[in-house]
Amino acid sequence: MASQLSAPHFHNEDAAFAYVEARVWPEGPVCPHCGGVERISKMQGKSTRKGLYKCYQCRKPFTVRMGTIFESSHVALHIWLQAMYLVAGSKKGISANQLHRTLGVTLKTAWFMHHRIREAMRSTDLGLMAGTVEADETYIGKKPGVEKAPKGVGFRHKLRVVSLVSRDTGEARSFNANSAEPDEVANIVRANVSREARLMTDEARHYWAVGREFADHQRVLHSGGEYVRGEAHTNTIEGFYSIFKRGMRGIYQHCSEKHLHRYLAEFDFRYSNRMALGCNDEDRASRLLTGIVGKRLTYQTTCARG
Ligand SMILES: [Zn+2]
Repeated sequence: MASQLSAPHFHNEDAAFAYVEARVWPEGPVCPHCGGVERISKMQGKSTRKGLYKCYQCRKPFTVRMGTIFESSHVALHIWLQAMYLVAGSKKGISANQLHRTLGVTLKTAWFMHHRIREAMRSTDLGLMAGTVEADETYIGKKPGVEKAPKGVGFRHKLRVVSLVSRDTGEARSFNANSAEPDEVANIVRANVSREARLMTDEARHYWAVGREFADHQRVLHSGGEYVRGEAHTNTIEGFYSIFKRGMRGIYQHCSEKHLHRYLAEFDFRYSNRMALGCNDEDRASRLLTGIVGKRLTYQTTCARG
């Protein structure tokens, strides 16, 4: 990691601007005020802010930070790039305290940056997952004010997470599933999985009815001690949950329901862009940059995954 963090864009502010501009504006600067691409000039001069452009269509100045997670932050861009690299590259996550110490920013700033980075990790790809898709749920943390359920009687005191993992693309999508809505799990599956897909779940009742809407639905009987029956298993998702739970337990002990979706975005992003899918640390950090703009960027592929 040390050698990769020695790249100029992690240390030099001009190089950081050039690096971000090349990814946010692959075809040249775009005015964030009016969307114009013509008659844009780079402002020069000693007293000029770094990376400042002027649009002569709307006559307004702008930088590449505008309209991104970097807007309204005083942290230098090269420090942001270091933070993104660290968060994207740490398998089980990295604490705000560790970021604060490594980057030399205050703890409060580190916490703020971390949440912004999670926002950039949030996938906006709402396409249906196809092929063979595993669905499962897990329980983490503790809901405030809810008494612990007796052993074997469920997890009403914990936060429920539902995840979908595609065996074909390796993509993971996780959801905060703690509303009182009766068909919440089924609705998540329905909204995210193609009807032509083959669904793999355990025997939980909430998959029974929705399962019939798919080309195939296979259930593995965990309660009967069965874990694999041919293609029927949820082992891929179990692997994802083991990374997720180790990270949540070890690094992010206190996660409120309010922020749960952000933590899920972080673990989903790293898993969906992992080494095993041909995505190295540099690819992952570069791909993360495509998520910084107010979610209007087209999805650019930098990894082997489709
Ligand atoms: Zn403009």
